[in-house]
Amino acid sequence: MRVLVLNAGSSSLKYQVIHLDDGGERVEVKGTVERIGSPGGAADHRDAVREALERAGSVDAVGHRVVHGGEKYRDAVRIDAEVERMIEECCALAPLHNPPNLACYRAARDLLGGAPHVAVFDTAFFQSLEPHVFLYGLPLEYYERDHIRRYGFHGTSHRYVSARAAQLLGKPPEQCRLITCHLGNGCSICAVRGGRAVDVSLGFTPIEGLIMGTRCGDIDPGVVFHLMRAKGMSLDEVEDLFIRRSGLLGLSGRSNDMRDLVEAAASGNERARLAIDVFCYRAKKYIGAYWAVLGGADAVVFTGGIGENRAGIRRQILDGLEHLGRFETLVVPTHEELLIARDTARVLNGTETR
Ligand code: ADP
Repeated sequence: MRVLVLNAGSSSLKYQVIHLDDGGERVEVKGTVERIGSPGGAADHRDAVREALERAGSVDAVGHRVVHGGEKYRDAVRIDAEVERMIEECCALAPLHNPPNLACYRAARDLLGGAPHVAVFDTAFFQSLEPHVFLYGLPLEYYERDHIRRYGFHGTSHRYVSARAAQLLGKPPEQCRLITCHLGNGCSICAVRGGRAVDVSLGFTPIEGLIMGTRCGDIDPGVVFHLMRAKGMSLDEVEDLFIRRSGLLGLSGRSNDMRDLVEAAASGNERARLAIDVFCYRAKKYIGAYWAVLGGADAVVFTGGIGENRAGIRRQILDGLEHLGRFETLVVPTHEELLIARDTARVLNGTETR
C-alpha cells in the first residue's frame, strides 16, 4: 500500500509517501511546502496539497496528522462526515492547529476522488491518562462543561519512540517503564508504563511544561493577570508573548535554535548559557517527577532535533539523576510519518501491518 502522509502546520505542509508491504517499509517521496499564504509561497493549504499530490503520484490512501481529537478518539480513525464534524468541533480547542489539518483533508478529498483518508490524532495516545492526572485544580464543571483538562500533544512521537525503545531494550512493551523526552522546537516529556501514556508535560494547549523554542512552558497564571493589569497588555499580546517570544528565544534574546545557543554559550555569551540552563533544569525536574510517578524507569529516551543531536544537552539534563537508580539512556530518532502510515494501513485493513 502507498500511503500519502500529510502533516500540516499553519504555514507549512510536510508530506511523505510511504510504501508498506510484506517486504518492508520505504519512504518514496518526501517534501515540504513552505510559506503557505505568503508572497512566493503556495496561495493556501489547498494549493499546497495540490503540489504534494503532484509529487506523490498515485496513492492508495492518505494519512492525516490531526493535532486535536478531543476526548472522543483513542486511536486513528477513517474519516467520514461524522469524524470531519468532530475535527471541526475540536478547532475551538486547537484554533492554531486543527483548521489547517481540516483544510488539507478537505482539499485532498476533493482532489483525489475516492481514496480513503485516516486521521491520526496527536492527542489519542494520552486518552489513557487517568482523571487524577488530567484534571486541573479548577471547579469540576470547567472540565465537565467546558472540557478543560490536560490533553497532551506529540502523542505520535511518544508512541513511536516508546515502542522502539522497548524493542531496543529487548523487553515486551507491557514490561517497560519509560520516560520519553521529545525535544525539538516544541518539547514534551511523557511517562509511559506498559506501552500506555501515564502522564505528559503538555496540557490543555501545547504551551505547558518544558521550555521550548519560543514557548514559555510552565508559568504561574498570576503572571497573566499582572501583565494585563500592571502593564496594560492585551490578551492577544500576552498570548503572543507566551507562544512566540518566550522560551529559548526570549531567555537568550538571540535565537530559538539550540545550535545557535550552544555555539554562543561556548564563546562566552551569558544569556545563551542561561537559556540552556533553564531548559535543562526544567527537563530534569520533569524526569524526576515522572520517575516518582512510575516508581522508577528502565530508560530515559531522547528524540526530536535537540534530543537526537545534542549529546551535551542530554548530559546536562541527566547530570545528577544517577542517584535515582539504574536506567538506560537511549536516543531514538522519531518517525511520526511512518507511524501515521502504519496506522492508516492498520485502520483500513483492520489488521496490524507489523
Ligand atoms: P520541530 O519540533 O519543528 O520538528 P526539530 O525536531 O527539528 O523541530 O528540532 C529543532 C531543534 O533541534 C532546534 O533547536 C535545532 O537547533 C535542533 N537541531 C535540529 N537538528 C540538529 C542537528 N543536526 N544538530 C544539532 N541540533 C539540531
